[in-house]
Amino acid sequence: MNNLMLNSEILNSVLENKIISYEDAVQIYRDSKTNPLELFSTAQNLRKKSKGQTVTFSKKAFFNIINMCKDTCTYCTYKAEPGEEKLSLMSKQDIKQMLSLAKKYRCVEALFVTGERPEQRYQGARDWLKKNGFKSTAEYLTHASEWALEEGLFPHTNAGNLTFEEMKELQKTNASMGLMLENSSERLSQKGMPHYLAPSKRPKTRLDVLENSGKLKIPMTTGILVGIGETPEEVIESMFAIKKLHEKYGNIQEIILQNFQPKHDTKMREFPSAEETYFKIIVALSRIIMPEMNIQIPPNLSPKSYQSFLTVGINDWGGISPLTPDYVNPEFSWPEIKNIEENTKIAGFDLKCRFPIYPEFFPFISKELRDKMSLMEDGEGLVKEEYWR
Ligand code: SF4
Repeated sequence: MNNLMLNSEILNSVLENKIISYEDAVQIYRDSKTNPLELFSTAQNLRKKSKGQTVTFSKKAFFNIINMCKDTCTYCTYKAEPGEEKLSLMSKQDIKQMLSLAKKYRCVEALFVTGERPEQRYQGARDWLKKNGFKSTAEYLTHASEWALEEGLFPHTNAGNLTFEEMKELQKTNASMGLMLENSSERLSQKGMPHYLAPSKRPKTRLDVLENSGKLKIPMTTGILVGIGETPEEVIESMFAIKKLHEKYGNIQEIILQNFQPKHDTKMREFPSAEETYFKIIVALSRIIMPEMNIQIPPNLSPKSYQSFLTVGINDWGGISPLTPDYVNPEFSWPEIKNIEENTKIAGFDLKCRFPIYPEFFPFISKELRDKMSLMEDGEGLVKEEYWR
C-alpha cells in the first residue's frame, strides 16, 4: 500500500503498480495539462521506489569524430558542410591526444559521435577515411574504441544507423551504444517536417536498428526529442514503442528526454523551445510508463531549472564533460560537475558517477570489458570516487 493518496483514480492505480495502457497515458496527459502536480508526485514516488536516493551522471569527453552527415534534419546545427569553420575531421592523432587529455581530466567515458554515413555523400569524408587508413566510419570507430580502452576510458558510440554487423563489431569494445529514436511518428518525415530530408530518421529504420541492438544484447541508450512539432500523443506512442522493444529484448538501458532548443543557423530557428511544463509532463509520464527505466534529461538544456526535474521522476544527468563542448548544442555549455552535485544534494539526492553502462546491464557485456571496469568500480557497480574526482 502507498501512503500517497491522489484524486486521480488512474494515478492511484499506478502507485499500486498497475501497468498503464497507451489510452491511460493519454488520459493522464490530458488531466495533467491544467494541474500536473499529482502526476509529478506519482512519478517522483515511483522514481524513489526504483532508484532510491541516487542520481547518476557519466564523466565524459565528447569526440566529434566527423560531423559531415548524409542527411539533413531541420533542427540540427551539429552537421557541417565542407569548408565550414565547425567542420570536424578528427585524425588518429587528434583522437589519441584527446583520449590522453580526457584521462588527465579523470573522464570515464569516451563518447564517439559522427554524422550519418558521411562517406556516402561527401568526397571529403572518403578522403579523410583513406588518409587515416579506413574503409568506413564504422571501421574507424572500431579502432578508436580500442584506443579508448587502451587509455583506460570506456567507449560509447553514437553514430546513427549502424548495420547489424557494424554493431556486432563495436559491441566488443563499447560498454554501451546510443541511438535516439527522436519520435516514432511517420508524420515528422513528411514534406515540411523536421525529418523530411533525413531518411535515417524514418521511425521504422530507427526501430529496426534498435531491434538489432536487442538481438545483439547491446545495452542501448535511446530517447525522444521533445518539442519539434510532434503532438503529445505522438510522444506517448514513441514511449510505448521503446517500452515494447525493451519488453522484447530487455536491452534499453536508459531514455534521454531532450527538450528542443532552436539553433540560429537552422531552418527551425524561429520555432519555440519546448515549453517547460509540457516537457516536465512528458518526463513524468515516461517514468510512470516505465517505472524502472533510467530516465535522463541533459542539464545544460535547462540551465536555470534543471534541478527541478529531480521532482518529476528523472534519475540521471547523462554525460557531463569537464573538457569538451556539447557539439550537438554548442550554445549550452555543461554546468560544472560541482554545481550539479550541489544542486542534486539540495534536492535531497546523492550524485554518483556511473560508467556509460548502468550496473544492471553488466551481464550483457564481455568478460574483458567487465574485468576492466571492475578495477574502477565500487560495491554498487558505479565508479569509485578516486577515479573521477
Ligand atoms: S541530427 Fe544527426 S542525422 Fe540529422 S542532420 Fe544532424 S547529424 Fe545528421
